[in-house]
Amino acid sequence: MRKGYVEVLVDRCKGCEMCIPACPRGLMTFPMKTLNKAGYFIAEFEDPEEQCPACKMCAIACPDAAIVVYKRVKEPAGGAK
Ligand code: SF4
Ligand code: SF4
Repeated sequence: MRKGYVEVLVDRCKGCEMCIPACPRGLMTFPMKTLNKAGYFIAEFEDPEEQCPACKMCAIACPDAAIVVYKRVKEPAGGAK
């Protein structure tokens, strides 16, 4: 089950690539396929095997606060009511 998910805030990203080496699992990529409104290619999150533990290293490395990390929280025993 997926633990973490990363959203790159497209129009905040300046394409500096700082998040790429910051990810210990190599899940941040720079495919140079999407331009934002300001004309920068943007970083992308690619995690087909659902390996991201939501460690936030990518977000910490981003100088433009362009990365939001979501972490799955466990449901309480018995499930939601
Ligand atoms: S949260 Fe951690 S593992 Fe997930 S993409 Fe960011 S740096 Fe990589
Ligand atoms: S570190 Fe932030 S601004 Fe730089 S490429 Fe990654 S998401 Fe974009």
